[in-house]
Amino acid sequence: MTDPNLGQWGLYVHIPFCQARCTYCDFNTVTGMDDRDHALYMKALEREWQRVSDTPAGELVSVFFGGGTPSLVEPAQIGGLLEAVYGRGVRLAGDLEVTMEANPGTVSMERLAAYRQAGVNRLSLGVQAWQEHHLARLNRIHTAEDAVDAVRSARRAGFANVSLDLIYGLPRQTLDEWRETLDEALALEPDHLSVYQLQVEEGTPLATQIKRGQLALPVPDLTADMADFGQERLAQAGFERYEISNYARPGRWSRHNRLYWTMNPYLALGAGAHGYWHSRRWWNVRGVRRYIEASLAGEPVEAGEERLTRPEEMREYLWLGLRERQGLSRSRFFSRFGVNPEGYFGPSFRKLHQQALIERAGDRIRLSARGLDVANYVFREFVGDSTGA
Ligand code: SF4
Repeated sequence: MTDPNLGQWGLYVHIPFCQARCTYCDFNTVTGMDDRDHALYMKALEREWQRVSDTPAGELVSVFFGGGTPSLVEPAQIGGLLEAVYGRGVRLAGDLEVTMEANPGTVSMERLAAYRQAGVNRLSLGVQAWQEHHLARLNRIHTAEDAVDAVRSARRAGFANVSLDLIYGLPRQTLDEWRETLDEALALEPDHLSVYQLQVEEGTPLATQIKRGQLALPVPDLTADMADFGQERLAQAGFERYEISNYARPGRWSRHNRLYWTMNPYLALGAGAHGYWHSRRWWNVRGVRRYIEASLAGEPVEAGEERLTRPEEMREYLWLGLRERQGLSRSRFFSRFGVNPEGYFGPSFRKLHQQALIERAGDRIRLSARGLDVANYVFREFVGDSTGA
């Protein structure tokens, strides 16, 4: 029983540095570190990579520099790490995707050209909103004009694949403002858009502001209107919604994210990074200084691991597969686990069919239009499934 995709793997590299902390962010990031810290951290990443015991078999299809703000690290350091990765005889996909997240407030045309030169071929820019008052309230370090400059510079620097991140459901955001954000983003002619509803995470400054009544989120009906409007507007503009929150022009689906949704293996380097390799999931120490010290001293940086049981893996494979618009391939599920998903998860599937939340399309099982609106409800059905296996 093998999955045809299992020969493909990815590498996630976490760069935790940020210039300032956005009010809604709960990622593993640090502010206030300088060039020397950055250099030490990059060295620590290289050491961690050297300690990966065997060169993974299969084809490396994606490297993703996420953060944090990877664009705070020098292009030569990004290039150096890529060289170290490729230098161990790793088999590279002909169309290897190398993505770097960037904050529009940190890049210039020259810097972007240097990242391109270093081997980055896909840029993911955190634009988030168009209106200055929203950007300021979120403590973003850039303006809308910076976003325009960043996209234009990226194109001039040779990036043929540019993605933008946008957020809706911001405190005090109106539908007209969301319209403007989408229209201005589309005018930049991106190849890919990630569109997220704002999540208020416990412990963030935003959560405190909301608790104290200093800010209020839009009412649920308005947020739902924003979601509907976004879907329609992006479809009109020729973007395919290939995953719940992700839209792309033809041929521009994110390879890296697809590795996650199809449960292909990925290694991960960096403070707090999570990896997954054939049923084992692990995570590194979160503290950046601790990570640097341990890695440079040749000590393990792993903080914990879990082994997924076969039923756990099946459930996860199923709900992750349903995130993609094309849905879950029944034949792939069978070739990986040796059972038919509809038979194994019979009661859940019957219930969701009756509620018209999932549908069959050839070999695929996918969320219906209605199911997409209540995707988390559908996923909970499998995450909490108590099938005896
Ligand atoms: S730039 Fe990104 S990673 Fe850094 S604080 Fe803001 S949202 Fe978080």
